[in-house]
Amino acid sequence: MNLPAPLRRALWETWEFSTVALGWYALLAGLAWAAFYVVWRRAMSRRKIHPRPPARGQVSREVRLSLMSLLIFGLVSGAVVLIRPLGIRTQLYNPMDLHGWGWYYASVVVCIFVHDAYFYATHRLMHHPRLFRPVHRAHHLSNNPTPWAAYSFSAWEALVQAMIGPILVYAVPMHFSAFLLFMVWQIAFNVMGHCGYEIYPRWFLRTPLGAFLNTPTHHAMHHEKVTSNYGLYFNLWDGVFGTNNPAYEERFAQVTGPAGEA
Ligand SMILES: [Zn+2]
Ligand SMILES: [Zn+2]
Repeated sequence: MNLPAPLRRALWETWEFSTVALGWYALLAGLAWAAFYVVWRRAMSRRKIHPRPPARGQVSREVRLSLMSLLIFGLVSGAVVLIRPLGIRTQLYNPMDLHGWGWYYASVVVCIFVHDAYFYATHRLMHHPRLFRPVHRAHHLSNNPTPWAAYSFSAWEALVQAMIGPILVYAVPMHFSAFLLFMVWQIAFNVMGHCGYEIYPRWFLRTPLGAFLNTPTHHAMHHEKVTSNYGLYFNLWDGVFGTNNPAYEERFAQVTGPAGEA
């Protein structure tokens, strides 16, 4: 089949983006699953946030929906390449030190903070009664998520989540590898947030880092309680808008506390 060159490039980009993201998802969720649910299952049992094991059919649904989401992420990335000949160009630059090494690393941090704000805003919107069912309910079918739930979204939610890519590459000047670092960070954080086990030490929330960074318990409580703890990486916007679950610290202490000391 002789496809026009721009379409061929866009399809190649879709394939490349989806397979790279799939590789990281499979690797990180696979490692977390092997560690918590197979190898150290007994040793970690006291750190399980939700006492029940995953429901029947849950993991296969989480994997299936995540695979669809990764394909949608790839299609959005392909669309960015497809419209490039129209003069709509990203701010991705080369060589790596074009704007200095300081900015190279700072650009990753900027991406993380922009994504954190974007996620909080869109996540709260998706909890609007009119949007919840068609857009966000699929993610909440796992009320006791496993690492495989990292991208367990409906097609609409996957599209909303995928849009952070174009927002960043059009708005933030960065090297492609800095964007890749951001992608790996976000996949790793999403897998951790859904792993179902608390991995931080008991004293963590009392440190400045622990007060700022969200923990697996924080997001597990969102899946359980639904109307609090909307944040992604940082406990920033939940703090600003007063949407932290008041029982968060107590629950964290319970999961990590004497009986939870792994
Ligand atoms: Zn979640
Ligand atoms: Zn939610």
